[in-house]
Amino acid sequence: MMPKVTPAVVILGNNSIPVARKIISVLPGAQLYGLAGRTSNVDISFTEFGTTLRELFASGTPIIGICATGIIIRTLAPLLANKRQEPPVLAVAEDGSAVVPLLGGLNGVNSLARQIANVLGVKPAITTTGDIRFGIALEDPPAGYRLANPEHAKSFMSDLLAGNSVRLEGHAPWLRNSSLPIAEDAERVIQITEKQVVSTPTRLVYHPATIAIGVRCTLPPPRKRGGVPDRAGWGSEEIALVQQMLADAELTPASVAGIFASTLDAANPALQAIADALNVPIRFFTTDEIAAISQNQTTDVAVTAALAASSGELVIQRELSHLSCAIAIAPQPIDVSTRGKPRGRLAIIGTGPGASDWMSPEVKEILRNATDLVGYSTYLGLLGSLTKGKQQHESDNREEIARARMALDLAAEGHFVAVVSSGDPGIYAMAAAVFEVLDQDAKPEWQGIEIQVAPGISAMQAAAARIGAPLGHDFCAISLSDILKPWSIIEQRITAAAKADFVLAFYNPVSKQRTWQLAEAKNILLNYRDPDTPVVLARNLGRDGESIQVCTLEHLAPELADMRTVILVGSSKTRTIQRCDGSFWVYTPRRYEEDKSV
Ligand code: SAH
Repeated sequence: MMPKVTPAVVILGNNSIPVARKIISVLPGAQLYGLAGRTSNVDISFTEFGTTLRELFASGTPIIGICATGIIIRTLAPLLANKRQEPPVLAVAEDGSAVVPLLGGLNGVNSLARQIANVLGVKPAITTTGDIRFGIALEDPPAGYRLANPEHAKSFMSDLLAGNSVRLEGHAPWLRNSSLPIAEDAERVIQITEKQVVSTPTRLVYHPATIAIGVRCTLPPPRKRGGVPDRAGWGSEEIALVQQMLADAELTPASVAGIFASTLDAANPALQAIADALNVPIRFFTTDEIAAISQNQTTDVAVTAALAASSGELVIQRELSHLSCAIAIAPQPIDVSTRGKPRGRLAIIGTGPGASDWMSPEVKEILRNATDLVGYSTYLGLLGSLTKGKQQHESDNREEIARARMALDLAAEGHFVAVVSSGDPGIYAMAAAVFEVLDQDAKPEWQGIEIQVAPGISAMQAAAARIGAPLGHDFCAISLSDILKPWSIIEQRITAAAKADFVLAFYNPVSKQRTWQLAEAKNILLNYRDPDTPVVLARNLGRDGESIQVCTLEHLAPELADMRTVILVGSSKTRTIQRCDGSFWVYTPRRYEEDKSV
């Protein structure tokens, strides 16, 4: 079986990048690790090869080292204690001419080697005898089958290699069509079954992923603890029912392919709890699909879902007050990716002000996994290779509500949508737009979407970091754009902030059409602040053409700024320190003593 954790492709120099990229093209989500100073444009840059490799190995991450086998072997040698827990480890020649599986025979190294060799157009250096002689690896069955007794696989294979034959009980074309020495009267047995059976050294048991569990579960009324819904313990009753039903039907949980339900129940935490307990995915059918399948008869949704997922036979069904559960068995393993859809996900992410250095690992992870990106074309353009292979829904910067609605609709169809904002998504950006739409429209099909906001570094933080610590004490942010709010409000806020002696961060200070607002803001501030108050103008932070300028309030002028500038205006305490090159640090001290002289 292929490992679930996404692999790490490790390189020591830029020469390996073409081969690394080819490998990553067939391993979606794989991360490129590169030695600092020798590689560029990698996902993760490391300085200590040994420590990095050992950490990856210890965390069970499949490792593809584009380097000599010897260096991998020597690095990992001290950790080679438990064969069963080894992730796959492979060495690939820098020119892509050799793919050598080294470790992780029980965890899919040979299939990984075949996959990589295939994209590189070479033959993998597979050395496992069973693999070569019979064309299969008993320890590493194809997707859809789980080996119940891997501890017996090696000696079983040795027996077959020594001349013994084997009888097949049950249905598995990959075994039937292999070169295994199959004989009806053989003593050794390979059994394929979804039943709970005893496995022995002479009886290998594979559990096919043929069981579909359909669940309909209405959400219990939220139990509240201090105003916050208490999610602890949700699902325990439902998990117990499913386990009891499997036991009563003498079925093994190892054969469960997935949980299947209606999209209307998608947000129900009990469903996720059942899936987590069985370690299987959940897939959803829309209400239209369910109606079509049940031909509009009043069949239970759980039964309909189980039958639709399995195209098989109903085995058992039970109901509790809020819960109905049905188990059906398919004639062959169920490929869950072809049945129903996953729960839709909408991640509203902030990519930081500029390039990837200021992007959080969480945001990078979301970008790697999302299927669809929604955003202003300039921001999507800044993401470069991170957008590769994804459906892009670009739009004009002003159509925020339309964009939010489109993102929710896409997610409701089962896509994993990332709505991309620059800076922080919650600061003058898309997160609030999504919640506005959600609040106003509340379409039923949006209820099941899993929504997540992933923060980013906002322009004011980046500007502050570049120039020192101007936001070191209380501050506020004001957008000078009067598109979404009247100027009278902006005016009031600047006055209030000036009176309260906040440091101010001005977003959207000017645009081509709007220049008078900044001049007006300056005039208001001059009523309360010294003309010498330090002002920071930071433009294109983290991007090409970045510039940071310090001036005094008196000299602040609309010509110094544009729509890619954020402006920080100091409080009465904000100070500057001259650096040896003549430029300034700007900071606001943390202590704020009352001015007793007034
Ligand atoms: N969500 C963004 C803000 C979007 S509003 C954030 O948290 O940063 C757009 C305004 O943000 C711009 O007019 C400018 O004032 C500021 N801004 C965004 N990116 C910037 C950058 N790279 N450099 C300077 N200012 C930036």
